[in-house]
Amino acid sequence: MEGTDGTVTGVRLADGRLIPCDAALIGVGGVANEELALEAGIACDGGILVDLAARTSDPDIFAIGDCTRRPLPLYNRTMRLESVPNALEQAKQAASAICGRPPPAPEIPWFWSDQYDLRLQIVGIPFDAAEIVVRGDIAAGKFALFHLAVDGIVQAVEAVNASTEFMGGRRIIQRRRQLTAARIADMNVTMQELAS
Ligand SMILES: Cc1cc2nc3c(=O)[nH]c(=O)nc-3n(C[C@H](O)[C@H](O)[C@H](O)COP(=O)(O)OP(=O)(O)OC[C@H]3O[C@@H](n4cnc5c(N)ncnc54)[C@H](O)[C@@H]3O)c2cc1C
Repeated sequence: MEGTDGTVTGVRLADGRLIPCDAALIGVGGVANEELALEAGIACDGGILVDLAARTSDPDIFAIGDCTRRPLPLYNRTMRLESVPNALEQAKQAASAICGRPPPAPEIPWFWSDQYDLRLQIVGIPFDAAEIVVRGDIAAGKFALFHLAVDGIVQAVEAVNASTEFMGGRRIIQRRRQLTAARIADMNVTMQELAS
């Protein structure tokens, strides 16, 4: 990093090139602490492997939260899902299995964060998104991004101060709705109509 008076002005690459900037965001990622599970002989693969009952490869041991790699049936994948709602969902899965109760209904992954006056709400994960459609007014700070797969099925909705789009987006993803970009962007079409 290069800078003056404590402020970054650029990033110098190994080959000598300078990329000017006035801010630098450093993303270092995360690694699951799976040592304890490995020592116990539990299967891990970039996280402790669990099923939809939060059960590990040892049927008597459960694991939940950031340290696990869990199935996402809607997307036909497994993933480490680092969020509070995921930890809560897996807690319900584990508690149901331990108590011999039916598993809770699967949830669509969702995330939220409040950043000053911006409420960020995300539902779904855009694994196979081919197109991003804006609904709402970006300049006004109230909008949502709809991520569509190539067949028009909505994969994820990222909402900024747009709770209606977030809530409707959850129903749309759950119902695997196929939508066109024009219909999503048309604010005369209500979220209820999009989801029905
Ligand atoms: C900066 C930041 C911002 C975030 N913002 C959001 C957000 O806006 N929304 C959201 O949904 N999620 C957010 N997250 C993610 C969220 O915090 C995690 O997904 C969630 O806390 C995971 O819960 P957990 O119980 O799996 O793990 P944790 O909450 O990390 O709890 C694990 C606990 O285990 C303890 N522990 C670890 N090793 C041992 C050991 N060997 N023995 C005993 N105890 C041990 C740790 O000290 C810790 O208390 C954020 C995370 C970070 C770091």
